[in-house]
Amino acid sequence: MAVDYTLMTVSSPSVLIAGGGFTGLFAALQLSRLGCELPVTLIDQSPRFVFKPLLYDLLSGEVEADMAWPRYDDLLSDTSVRFVCNSIQQVDLLNRQVVLSDGSGYAYDYLVLGLGGTAGYFGIPGAQDNTFKFRQADDALALGRHLQQCLQRAAQSPTGAERAAQLTVTLVGAGPSGIELAATLADLLPQWYDRFDGDSCDIEIIVLQRNGEILEGVRSEQLREIARAALGNRRIAVDLRLDAEVQAVEPGRLYYYQDGANHIIETETVIWTAGNSLHPLIQSLPVAQRDRRGRLRTEPTLQLPEYPEVFAGGDCAVMAARPWPATAQVAYQQGMAIASNLALMSKGKPPEPIDISLRGTLLKLGMETGAAELYNRFEVKGYPGHLIRHATYLSLLPTPVRNLKVGAEWITDEVFKQVLDA
Ligand SMILES: Cc1cc2nc3c(=O)[nH]c(=O)nc-3n(C[C@H](O)[C@H](O)[C@H](O)COP(=O)(O)OP(=O)(O)OC[C@H]3O[C@@H](n4cnc5c(N)ncnc54)[C@H](O)[C@@H]3O)c2cc1C
Repeated sequence: MAVDYTLMTVSSPSVLIAGGGFTGLFAALQLSRLGCELPVTLIDQSPRFVFKPLLYDLLSGEVEADMAWPRYDDLLSDTSVRFVCNSIQQVDLLNRQVVLSDGSGYAYDYLVLGLGGTAGYFGIPGAQDNTFKFRQADDALALGRHLQQCLQRAAQSPTGAERAAQLTVTLVGAGPSGIELAATLADLLPQWYDRFDGDSCDIEIIVLQRNGEILEGVRSEQLREIARAALGNRRIAVDLRLDAEVQAVEPGRLYYYQDGANHIIETETVIWTAGNSLHPLIQSLPVAQRDRRGRLRTEPTLQLPEYPEVFAGGDCAVMAARPWPATAQVAYQQGMAIASNLALMSKGKPPEPIDISLRGTLLKLGMETGAAELYNRFEVKGYPGHLIRHATYLSLLPTPVRNLKVGAEWITDEVFKQVLDA
């Protein structure tokens, strides 16, 4: 694309944050909290921040949109951060500029890359075109509308294959997103179907997982057990099919391979939670130091070795010395650490290596049901698990947002104690 650099707005020295997700938003808020005098601009393609761990609750109506999907204008209203809602088309590391979709651009002295990732489909035919994503608030709302339509059509249809396909929901991937979403739907869909006087016994929820394990990457075996039991214990039992390899997806139909045989599922809803892919802008950067998935390798300070004025965190980066998991829990701490390093550098001091504290895992395992694990010390399930999960997220991102506690920890001992003592 031809870029008109005469349109560029140049202010100096300045911090530009590309992407307002967990890395970028928390970096911006922390810079403001630290009273850093560098002018800060945050650019995101959407006017709203997505608190992804609460997308299931947004779908089920257990939280309001303002909480899971607040506006940047509100989140940043008490700060001096300038928010620009536009899509970044190009990151020009050599000329220290970022170009937006309308050809305008911003020069920077320091850049924070927090662009996240995109869905990955492993080249499986039809997967991208014929499945629902579950990564953004729009995805959750669109899926909810589609499922309601399916239930309504099923309630009006005579029995038969077409009706069964409307009532069959297939999820691909048994990582945290697939498991949490399946468990939520297994409670939610019967409630919705009741409104159409449907018989919830006819609903089928299937989870396909390529290998033999659910929740890979979750370190607690007990938590995995709790999740497995919860899936079988919902209003509709979730049908978990392990070692099931998806071959292709067509409208209304999914093909997979399991136990030496090919299988077909007739289904109007396939939800893809299986893969993560590199953001195309990150892929396009002239950076040699990457991991095998193409993510940017950073120094322990989160700077790029080849461009020390550039910091990267969250799902688009990996620290060479310590590859943290790609989670919000890591990304928001990295965002805050980047802010601290920028504040140091603005005072002529060197940046410091960052430290991340992995406190534990929170899972939603149905409506008002969850599980929480803290440092292998506690495992809490059921309604108390749900309360811990909610209390944690509320303390991280409360509304009204002026009360936002940017220094809040992902899971605190206090939250656990309050719930366990109650
Ligand atoms: C459904 C779901 C549930 C999850 N639950 C959990 C959980 O319970 N716990 C946990 O720790 N992690 C969870 N995660 C993972 C977690 O959300 C991610 O690891 C985290 O969001 C990564 O943060 P990030 O800053 O790298 O990117 P993101 O938070 O994805 O933010 C990237 C931002 O960049 C913006 N952007 C992208 N491209 C452009 C462009 N071209 N121009 C302008 N802006 C752009 C996007 O709009 C977005 O705001 C979940 C993820 C999903 C999808």
